[in-house]
Amino acid sequence: MPAIEQSEVVQLLRQLIAIPSVNPGHTDDAAIANEIRLAEFLGTHLAGKGFELAWDRASEERGSVIATYGPANPSKTIVLEAHTDTVGVKGMAIPPFEPTVENGRVHGRGSCDTKGPMAAALCALSKERIERLAAAGVQIQFVGAFGEEKGNIGADRLVDQGLGADMALILEPTELSIVYAHKGALWVELTLSGELAHSSNPASGLNAINAMAELLAWLQEQIVADQAKHRDSTLGPPTLNAGRIEGGVAINIVPHQCTVEIDRRIVPGEEPEDFLRPLESRLEAMKHEGRIRAYTLKIIKAGMPFITQPDAPLVQQLQAALRATGHEPKLTTAAWFSDAGPFAQTCKEVVVFGPGSIAQAHTKDEFIEVEELMAGQRVIEHWLDTLAAATG
Ligand SMILES: [Zn+2]
Repeated sequence: MPAIEQSEVVQLLRQLIAIPSVNPGHTDDAAIANEIRLAEFLGTHLAGKGFELAWDRASEERGSVIATYGPANPSKTIVLEAHTDTVGVKGMAIPPFEPTVENGRVHGRGSCDTKGPMAAALCALSKERIERLAAAGVQIQFVGAFGEEKGNIGADRLVDQGLGADMALILEPTELSIVYAHKGALWVELTLSGELAHSSNPASGLNAINAMAELLAWLQEQIVADQAKHRDSTLGPPTLNAGRIEGGVAINIVPHQCTVEIDRRIVPGEEPEDFLRPLESRLEAMKHEGRIRAYTLKIIKAGMPFITQPDAPLVQQLQAALRATGHEPKLTTAAWFSDAGPFAQTCKEVVVFGPGSIAQAHTKDEFIEVEELMAGQRVIEHWLDTLAAATG
């Protein structure tokens, strides 16, 4: 095995992959579900370097670890955050939790999203480096947050508890690009209720599928209007996607219920209420006019967008770190959503950054390039070193 494949970061990543931490929303298999095992491993690893641990436990099986190092009255605070959960493993073409290193790649579930970026950051946090940072007045918090792959619930809880910092590096596979903005996401589940009847006499019932078709057409008109109103110069327009629909009983029955799941992406300047309030009044009107009997509107997720200005010190420092380690810095925005959304509420500057490609995330043969993994570690090391030098 070539030397780089035995490097510290590869060995650590293999340990992380070998601890199943599938988001329970992505599996029915209790043996691989939940994040607490990985959080405990992270806690032990960081405590070994002198970090002090705090926990946010949502249940026996789920929770986040918050590891802190540095002065109690810091002149600067930074958060390094990685989500501990992965997506499910159904249909994977490789053993998900038995990491293999082959042809310069580490394979396994989470290798890229986001245990690879997590390992790169953990290795960058060497004992000597964190001592230097502490001496310079920098307090570091390493956060392993649960529940990112379905609703950012771990990050939301921490932000609600006030966890924040001057700078936050959200570790995700960005191919070492600096992601300084992404849209917010509002996910809703909407059920319309009508009335069952035999289809030989549709007028005796109330067809919930027809009502939903009407509502979806109205939503399309709304998004076109919203796109004209809210186009963001960095992130583009808001979007709407009806991603799942379910309804009806049989071909010869007037359907009494229809459910749809909608993903509405939010740009800065919009609030979830800007979408929800008109929708609710439309639904009330449909009820009033007798086109539905009732409705339920459930919010699955409401995540805010984030933008850090490209001239912010964090962005500038990361660009310098990339250049110093031989990479042409790339600044970009993302169509996907991450824990940066919640953390932007409590952290002054936030970027999403890490080795690995989002194209390999969630795939059946997920992997990360060892070269890129190590490059990610070097960039983070360089950034932390400039931070220590600049702050002290
Ligand atoms: Zn991720």
